[in-house]
Amino acid sequence: MSSVNSSSYSTDRIDRQRGIPTRCKCGEKVARFTSKTVTNPGRLFHRCPMGSEMDKTHLFKWTDESVVEEVEDFQELFDVLLVDTSEIQRSMQACETRLKCHESRIIEMEDAVSRCQEKTIKCISELRILKALFLCCLVMIFIYFNYP
Ligand SMILES: [Zn+2]
Repeated sequence: MSSVNSSSYSTDRIDRQRGIPTRCKCGEKVARFTSKTVTNPGRLFHRCPMGSEMDKTHLFKWTDESVVEEVEDFQELFDVLLVDTSEIQRSMQACETRLKCHESRIIEMEDAVSRCQEKTIKCISELRILKALFLCCLVMIFIYFNYP
């Protein structure tokens, strides 16, 4: 455990990381400690194991300040996600409207295809009748010329 005398150590250091720090600028993993000073008793902080109270080149950051930054960043992210969600909902509604339009057009096209199928069946039966009539005429002409 380490002790710290001042609450302003974390604000006057350079290259501060937002949120809960994981590594110091030197590459070392930071660890969490509890302050045992009179001014900050029991206050949590993150510190580079290579650093010390006076060495400001290594990371030192109060954990409560880190948590506040994490919450602020999360809130910003949450706001962006809310905006994105409302845009997605609007585009989904537009897609649903277009889908309904396409569905009604598909139903109209299916009706037209079924009407065409009915007409085709009717034409085929009429053609069969015409073919039979034509064959009848041919037979009658053949009989007329061969059996006078
Ligand atoms: Zn360090």
